[in-house]
Parts: sequence; structure tokens; C-alpha cells
Amino acid sequence: MKTLTPSVEMFFFPYVGGGHQIPMIDAARVFASHGASSTILATPSTTPLFQKSITRDQKSGLPISIHTLSADVPESDISVGPFLDTSALLEPLRQLLLQRRPHCIVVDMFHRWAGDVVYELGIPRILFNGIGCFALCVQKNLSHVAFESVSSDSEPFLVPNIPDRIEMTMSQLPPFLRNPSEIPERVKGMKQLEEKSFGTLINSFYELEPAYADLIKSKWGNKAWIVGPVSFCNRTKEDKTERGKPPTIDEQNCLNWLNSKKPSSVLYASFGSLARLPPEQLKEIAYGLEASDQSFIWVVGNILHHPSENKENGSGNWLPEGFEQRMKETGKGLVLRGWAPQLLILEHAAIRGFMTHCGWNSTLEGVSAGVPMITWPLTAEQFSNEKLITEVLKTGVQVGNKEWWPWNAEWKGLVGREKVELAVRKLMMESVEAEEMRRRAKNITGKAARAVEEGGTSYADVEALIQELQARTFANQG
Ligand code: UDP
Repeated sequence: MKTLTPSVEMFFFPYVGGGHQIPMIDAARVFASHGASSTILATPSTTPLFQKSITRDQKSGLPISIHTLSADVPESDISVGPFLDTSALLEPLRQLLLQRRPHCIVVDMFHRWAGDVVYELGIPRILFNGIGCFALCVQKNLSHVAFESVSSDSEPFLVPNIPDRIEMTMSQLPPFLRNPSEIPERVKGMKQLEEKSFGTLINSFYELEPAYADLIKSKWGNKAWIVGPVSFCNRTKEDKTERGKPPTIDEQNCLNWLNSKKPSSVLYASFGSLARLPPEQLKEIAYGLEASDQSFIWVVGNILHHPSENKENGSGNWLPEGFEQRMKETGKGLVLRGWAPQLLILEHAAIRGFMTHCGWNSTLEGVSAGVPMITWPLTAEQFSNEKLITEVLKTGVQVGNKEWWPWNAEWKGLVGREKVELAVRKLMMESVEAEEMRRRAKNITGKAARAVEEGGTSYADVEALIQELQARTFANQG
């Protein structure tokens, strides 16, 4: 740990949804490990989710703490979508900022209302938008596409002004990107948050996407700090297991199952914290996995039931007849209904591939673990992440989903069992192409590890931000 005098005081204000909350907690721990006094702003219902890991950090001497705001966000849960209104936290946040006046606050972009309150108080606000440099560049440059001359949702167009030749279709984009005149108020709020910010914190590492990191840094005049993979701050088994929700399987059972498998033989399939897959889609996945004849761990998270049904996770009869029993008896598959210790699983030597929805954290965790992927993007910027994996890094195969999905709506793009089986076989079975992907994926692991160690690029960016905040303080005092 670096010791800095005087230390800077940084606040981290994560959103409640998993894909944004989890990396921000990790980021706070990273900055604490560099000596910055880090405070995570939580709510009564989110604090328990990461209390244990923060207590462990405190015991090992890190300057980190949690401040639980005296208000809660109604119906908040780690699986909430991006548009939950968190503005109930405004007043407690204002009071805290007035009292403590930190050197900066890192704010998640989904706290759309937070821009003005922080700005008025003159506290540098750093934006965290939870995505990587490639996806950011794609997003920024989509505004230069002449969508009126694209004839249909499925006609490919070229993403302009980026270093690689990347084609996308309108069906892969959220409606407001296809039609900028229809930007909803909530998206405008996120843009405002960006406009007056001191800079942006990015969970990625330079060597993963150098051309795109350069573009971002040059465009934003070094006001982008690329500090990941922040998940690497989870060094112990406990930290890797207790991340997000309590896992459905205990650490030892999970490791025993993986240890019983041959090295590089298991597929890990997960769709993140938010996605709700309908029973028909789960069935197709089950059939496809079984037909592929590969060993797997499959995390079945949230299920999208028809409103007429009232079924809790796990109680629905949505798997093929006898599927779970067969998987148990043959030892072929482990179905986890709920939450998995993803970091622990991904780094295990038995893992050979990762079927992912391409959420940015899963993408980064997968590439950092050196695991090639089956890409199955659903929503947000996940189609861009798919392009990064399959066309820039060339460490994955596409399952073939073509439809962007407004995460809580009807499921449009059912992917059939044949496509699932084909993608699994392509990734998992021996072939020159799969071997090449595996080699490229392995090559990334070392780069990720070096980036966060002393002398690495992400390490340097963490230091640079801390020093900039220190210099700013001295200048203001002077
Ligand atoms: N995650 C996990 N166990 C699960 C599901 C998700 O640990 O069973 C973690 C995963 O490691 C990642 C985050 O939750 O850090 C999900 O973020 P991502 O950006 O991949 O997807 P989102 O949940 O935002 O769609």
C-alpha cells in the first residue's frame, strides 16, 4: 500500500444494480489500496452486500469505510434495471457533502439527478459509466451515422471514425441511438452528468484496447483514468466468493465440483445480474447444452415470467423433463439457480469457455481470466462488447442474437437450441480456430495482471488521479 501525505478523501457513490454497483465497490477498494481515504456511499439495503469485504480491508489496514445514507431507494435490489429513481438520496447526500467536503466524488451515471447538487457545492465529480473504451468510442461515433440512409433494421452500416472496420445493424442499438430526436429525459440526465464532470473513471486497461484508450484520452484531454480490471482487487477466496449477492452454492462445493473436472473442460454460462430470460429461452439453452455433450456450470438468474404467472426463481417447471436429474447423475452439468461466485469460477483451471451476455464486467472478467467466450448480447452496450470480443480481440464466437432487448419487455430474439449447441461445440471442441482463440485469450491475462501492478498502466492512472486531486487541493489552499 502506498502512503500519501496528505491523503485525499474520495467518495464513491455506486448505483444499486449489480453491473454498476460491484465495479464501483471494487474501484473504491483499489483507490484505498493506493492510500486514498475512500468512502463508499451506500443505503440501508445495499450496505450488507459488501460490508464483509470492506471490514476485511479495514482489518488489513486500508483507509476505507462505508457511509450509509439515511434514506433508501424503494424496491432497490442488485437486479434492478438502469432506470430506478434514486433521487430519494439527494438530501442525505447534500448534507453529507456539506459536512465532509471530500476532494472528489465518483458518481454512477444512473444517479441522473446528482450532477447539480455536487456541482453547486464545487466538489469535483468524476463520472463512472461502467463501460469500456471501445464501447464508448462506438457510442460517441454513432451520432455521425446517417441512419436515414440505412434501409432496414438488419442492414449493416459502418461505425465511423474508429480504428477498426466494425459493422453494426440498427436492431443491435437502443431506440434512442437509432433516433437521436427521441432521446428520453432520463438519458438526457445522464448526458448532463457527463458534461460538467471533472473526468471519467473507466474500468478497463490500456493494453486491452489501446487504440480506443488513446482515442478516449486524446478526446477528453487526459480526463479519463483507466484503472482496471478493478475486480483484481479481490485477492482472497472470500472476496471472490462474497461479491454481489450471497452465492447459491458455497465456495467449497463449487471448488469440489470444478476440481473433479479435467483441466480446460468446463463451460461457464451466465447472463449477469439483470437479465430476465423467459422459460422458453431457458429451455432452448438446456437442450443446446445437453446436446453439445460438454460439461458446464449454468447460472440461471432472474426469470421473465408472463404477468399471469406468479413464480419465484426456481419454482417454475421450465427445464426439459428430467434435465437436472440427468445432469446430476452424469456429473455433466451444475445448474445454479440464483447467484454464482463468478470470479472464483472463471479463474479455475477447469474452465475452458464462458457463455456471456457481454455485460462489461463479465466481458472484462472473462478476458482478464484468459477465457474465450460465446457472446450472447442482450441490451445496453452489449452488442458493442460482442464486437470487441469477436472482431477486435478475436477471442470468441457469436451465438447469433441480433435483437437489442429493452431489458424488462417481451423477449423478441429467441435463440434456438441448434445455435446454442453449435456455438458451444465451436468454442469447446478441439480445432485450429478454437486453439487460436484460446491462445489469444491466454495472452490477455498476463497483460491484465501487469496493468494493475506497480509500473502498470492502470496502477499509474490511479496514482495520476490521486496526485491530480492532491495538487488541486494545494492550489486551492494556496
Ligand atoms: N455476477 C456474479 N455472479 C452472478 C452474476 C453476476 O458474481 O451470478 C457479477 C459478475 O461477476 C459481474 C456483475 O455481477 O461483476 C455483472 O455485471 P455485468 O456488467 O457483466 O452485467 P449486468 O449484470 O450489468 O448485466
